[in-house]
Amino acid sequence: MATYNPFETAQKQFDKAADLLELDQAARALLRTPMREYHFSIPVHMDDGNKQVFRGFRVQHNDARGPAKGGIRFHPQETIDTVRALSMWMTWKTAVADIPLGGGKGGVICDPHNLSQWEQEQICRGWIRQISKNVGPHTDIPAPDVMTNAQHMLWMLDEYEMIYGERAPGFITGKPVGMGGSLGRTEATGYGTIITVREALKELDIKPENTTASFQGFGNVSQYAIELYHQMGGSTICVSCWDQADQTSYSFRKKEGVNLKELLSITDAFGGIDKSKALELGYEVLPGDAWIEQEVDILLPAALENQVTGETVGKISKRVKIIAEGANGPTTIEADKEIFERKIFLIPDFLANAGGVTCSYFEQVQSNMNYFWEKDEVLGKLDLKMTAAFIAVSDFARKHNLYMRDAAYVISVDRVAQACKDRGWI
Ligand code: GLU
Repeated sequence: MATYNPFETAQKQFDKAADLLELDQAARALLRTPMREYHFSIPVHMDDGNKQVFRGFRVQHNDARGPAKGGIRFHPQETIDTVRALSMWMTWKTAVADIPLGGGKGGVICDPHNLSQWEQEQICRGWIRQISKNVGPHTDIPAPDVMTNAQHMLWMLDEYEMIYGERAPGFITGKPVGMGGSLGRTEATGYGTIITVREALKELDIKPENTTASFQGFGNVSQYAIELYHQMGGSTICVSCWDQADQTSYSFRKKEGVNLKELLSITDAFGGIDKSKALELGYEVLPGDAWIEQEVDILLPAALENQVTGETVGKISKRVKIIAEGANGPTTIEADKEIFERKIFLIPDFLANAGGVTCSYFEQVQSNMNYFWEKDEVLGKLDLKMTAAFIAVSDFARKHNLYMRDAAYVISVDRVAQACKDRGWI
């Protein structure tokens, strides 16, 4: 199998939008490649007395609409091209959500499953030491992503503040509540995805309580997406997750609907579900791919990129009406064509999962004024932003007879290209 390169996917998607917008050569050259990127080494004193050097990255794709913004991933298979693609998707995400920020992304090649808390703290602090001059509340604001959490953000913030000798709570988002974090931030990505699903169901004239769903991944995004989806009356039939011990993934199915609380009680901090306990609780344990072939109305890939591919797309049941991409870049170009041809209502990643960064923006605002809102206020504002973004894209798609992904791209790329033009860059 050819190795998959997410940056190539991101560039192809961009090229299509650039063609639709008839962008000139300079705009294309500026936007199809990140403006800046940093690669560095992070030496760590391991608990066993050895020293290990980890590779870290930060890529700032574009900051014409505001400071670069985006998460930091810890992943053993992280590559610079993955980070480039993710930084580009962040630019479109902040643009489609219409928040005054640009796009960036960071990463470290490491596997936190095998690292102690102290080793992880050193990676966080080391990451900041290497990049502190090139990030900041007015230049580039990091946040959590795959396998990073509020504690990691707090270590990073603390290191940054030590270097600059002052408090800078607007430097990073996804901080713990009570330490500059926003209520609702943990829930925001998953909730935001379901807000877009709710709007899509309205358009399709389907009642949420008459629907079923299958989720890929059981991390932060899925856990809260399932919570809100169940509150709306939906029923989740299947959830898949990565099994660290077996180095493969499994799907967990309960045809009468999974019980979220029960599943959470047998799940580790990385979203890994305990197989034997799941069997005891009456779940069927199926191969990792099984989540995609379930006879459900909604599919929600919320794990990693490159999951809905030319090989797996054919397994999607005829019953599926909506695919909401909770993950960044889960669908390959090949699979995307088939989803389009099958007329499945697609809610593209940078729209479907924009709730996280939208709430990060709220967190920054609250941190900067040092006044924190009630949870209801945060979630109410999140709903308004996500609903408005969804309606803008779906109206545009209908008016111009475009696929939802293309409509989202055209809106975002146009906003960013315009900002670059207005600044006199191109
Ligand atoms: N990592 C999240 C994303 O991919 C959130 C980024 C942020 O809050 O800045 O959208």
